[in-house]
Amino acid sequence: MNAEPKSKTPVECRFLLNAGAPARVFQEALRADSIAAQLSLAFRVYYRLRSLIPSPVRRLLQRCRAVRQAPDWYLPREFHLALCEAIAKAGDEGVPTIYPWPDGQRFAFVPTHDVETAEGWKNIEHIAKIEEEFGIRSSWNIVPYKYPVDMGLIRDLQSRGFEVGVHGYNHDGKLFTSRAIFDRRLPAMNAALAKFCVSGFRAPMVHRNLEWLQSLEIDHDGSYFDVDPYQAMPGGVGGVWPFIAGRFVELPYTLPQDHTLFVALHERDGRIWHEKLNYVAALGGLALVVTHPDYLDNELRVDAYRRLLGRVREFDHVWCTLPQDVAVWWRERDQLALNRESDEKWCISGPAAHRASASTLCAVPDRRFATSQNFAAPVHSGPALPRLEWIDLPFLRVTPKTSVAKTLV
Ligand SMILES: [Zn+2]
Repeated sequence: MNAEPKSKTPVECRFLLNAGAPARVFQEALRADSIAAQLSLAFRVYYRLRSLIPSPVRRLLQRCRAVRQAPDWYLPREFHLALCEAIAKAGDEGVPTIYPWPDGQRFAFVPTHDVETAEGWKNIEHIAKIEEEFGIRSSWNIVPYKYPVDMGLIRDLQSRGFEVGVHGYNHDGKLFTSRAIFDRRLPAMNAALAKFCVSGFRAPMVHRNLEWLQSLEIDHDGSYFDVDPYQAMPGGVGGVWPFIAGRFVELPYTLPQDHTLFVALHERDGRIWHEKLNYVAALGGLALVVTHPDYLDNELRVDAYRRLLGRVREFDHVWCTLPQDVAVWWRERDQLALNRESDEKWCISGPAAHRASASTLCAVPDRRFATSQNFAAPVHSGPALPRLEWIDLPFLRVTPKTSVAKTLV
């Protein structure tokens, strides 16, 4: 029953910035998450008894647990300040790197859903159609051994450009309570990945252990988050970008879950989504949202989701895409090298150089983030965070195929 103690992250990880003090900020945040990501005794007991507790009582318990947080609890404040400090120390030039996104996009928006119950399953089509109206496709994470899974709908979603992933085993909250339980369920989870012909995974309740997750036959995982104080398993990696985590690409969610906003906190609109979207967009990050067709079950919530999609579409140069496509790009980005050619020019080399651009991430301490800039009357505010800014660098691209440098900027 007891989980094995974790004090380190033996899985090799590579982050957005992969050298010096900024890299250590990412490493330290992940290390802290791996220590924090434990279930309390109360939660262990809760998950043991969960199947016996009627769902109205479960919802009441969840609401009682919604302890008061800072007004801007959805911003990774501590990580942000640490990263600003590390980047400021690097000097006025900031930290040059390959820009996080390809093909001239400024940030990425990735909608994902976890389908918790048979009721949620029935609501998939309704939400999928709304996304199609916006020209957006999402990923649907299916619990393989809890409710009847209609392979016809899975194939239909895939044929329409949606992605499907596996959402744990049977969603009973026990998957990460011991290595023995995880290992016992592993072949069945891998079989579900093969049956659905998919390569993405998210653990139920975002319980997680980076080392155990390595045994899954996956290409990308979404069981981490930048910040979310409302999860049973605390933690948070702080950064709003993907990272390479051993054999897969980790895609942390960065917009709060619908369950947190609408069920735990009784929010009536998606303003927090919009505020966080502005924050992630300004950082050139991954705006990955987790919703559930189970909770997008009334017009108020559906309307909030619709307005989020509409807001995303108002941005210029936003890459609305799927987890699998982000993972492909992130591996390509990982293969690229950025070198200084001269004082005025940088060189990007590698197979996907034609998609990449060079940029430097600078700390601008005298300027502040204004996450509420698109709202006349922001409802949530905290002390403004110092600004981090991407500045484009002049660069050449060299791909191995042609070995010809092409001046682009
Ligand atoms: Zn779930």
